[in-house]
Amino acid sequence: MIVETLGRIVIIFAIAFAVLLALALFFCFFIFRTKKIIFPNFVLFIISLLYEPLRRLLSFFRVDPTLIDRISVEIRNAFNYPDFAATKLEERVLLLPQCIRSTECPAKLSSVDGIHCIECGKCVIAELSAICKELGIRMYISPGGTFSKRILMHSRPKAMVGVACYPNLYEGALNVKLAGVPAQGVPLTTSGCVNTTVDCEEIIKKCKLQVSK
Ligand code: SF4
Repeated sequence: MIVETLGRIVIIFAIAFAVLLALALFFCFFIFRTKKIIFPNFVLFIISLLYEPLRRLLSFFRVDPTLIDRISVEIRNAFNYPDFAATKLEERVLLLPQCIRSTECPAKLSSVDGIHCIECGKCVIAELSAICKELGIRMYISPGGTFSKRILMHSRPKAMVGVACYPNLYEGALNVKLAGVPAQGVPLTTSGCVNTTVDCEEIIKKCKLQVSK
């Protein structure tokens, strides 16, 4: 009797798991294809609940597993848009990862506010740094680890644009949400530990987002 009941419970859980997976895949593909965000809270909930199984399933079917991360970044960006866009430019920070620096970067590292770019021109950060100065946006280059949390404490921004690989964007989004700071995430165009690339236009577009009047 007990074995039978246990068997039924296992079957019910397995069916519920399969239904949730199928729903998650359906919503992710729908959002990806149509660019329309439907049931954002529910989709974010099932993505965080089934993050690893979803990635494995996509890999199994030879679909890029970062689709899950992309959808989750897009939903969070859309969610945060009104609060982010309502802040002033000078209240925002841009947080960049150190992997986009040139391997010959001469910048010095500060334990307080990260890597100090001197705009030597060997990587795209020089251009981003100059634009941020023009806009009045504070720019930080993270040396890694828990730097994003430190910057949230140290510079107390009202809004943040974060650039990172998908796993770091996912984790960073949780940290800024906990801090109550509306953020916009921009994924790297090629990931890795060094010589990664970014879409500068996309970063600048996000930094300049304003409420349309
Ligand atoms: S532009 Fe800045 S971050 Fe890039 S290599 Fe030069 S000093 Fe380093």
